[in-house]
Amino acid sequence: MRFHYYAAVSLFPLVSGLSSAEECRLAIEANDAMQFNQRELAVSSACSEVELTLKHVGTQPAKVMGHDWVLAKASDMAALTNAGAAAGLTNNFQPPSDTRIVAATKIVGGGESTTIKFSTSALKTNEDYSFFCTAPGHSSVMKGRFRLVDDAHRTASRSSE
Ligand code: ZN
Repeated sequence: MRFHYYAAVSLFPLVSGLSSAEECRLAIEANDAMQFNQRELAVSSACSEVELTLKHVGTQPAKVMGHDWVLAKASDMAALTNAGAAAGLTNNFQPPSDTRIVAATKIVGGGESTTIKFSTSALKTNEDYSFFCTAPGHSSVMKGRFRLVDDAHRTASRSSE
């Protein structure tokens, strides 16, 4: 028992080091004025998985002012929003099974929130990514830049995970 006690104590510094996991969580808000509250999001390449929460802080229902959060290469944004408009609300304004979509939440209405987790394995640090809302007409203002920031040291120290 004594051995286990000391083992637990020695692990404590490692546990406190896990605060970096917070950096793998993103939160963004959308509102009734067709706006995201952030223009740029970034995560460390040390994050193998990212947790993103989209919160709609407005009151309008999804069919009137619903929003989603979609991540894709910046060069794919226009084609994806066009295809999303054709796909309609029942498909969350997203073309089903489209491999250009890196990650996406569902459409949420006012007062709702949704959380997704996605792997960073398909992302590159030197690629230009955009996040945007695929509701028709929204991406002209509801868009921003997404970056995977290289973090070689942390990647090395966490590679055993
Ligand atoms: Zn929107």
